[in-house]
Amino acid sequence: MLKIYGCTGCGRLQAVSRRKSVECPACRMPMEKVPLTFLQYTELSEEERTRYALRWAAARLDGRRQP
Ligand SMILES: [Zn+2]
Repeated sequence: MLKIYGCTGCGRLQAVSRRKSVECPACRMPMEKVPLTFLQYTELSEEERTRYALRWAAARLDGRRQP
């Protein structure tokens, strides 16, 4: 089953099969698992994916700022 990973740097989403660490092919930032199933991912348009990823990345960074 593929998992969806997102880049906190540029907001790119990627479907990945089991791997320990995933690196963004665009900016080489480590990617993290996003709470999105592969099925949900396939149902999103390119634009929706970008919008989702940017929102996720922003929330991810906000969470990091808190102790
Ligand atoms: Zn990236």
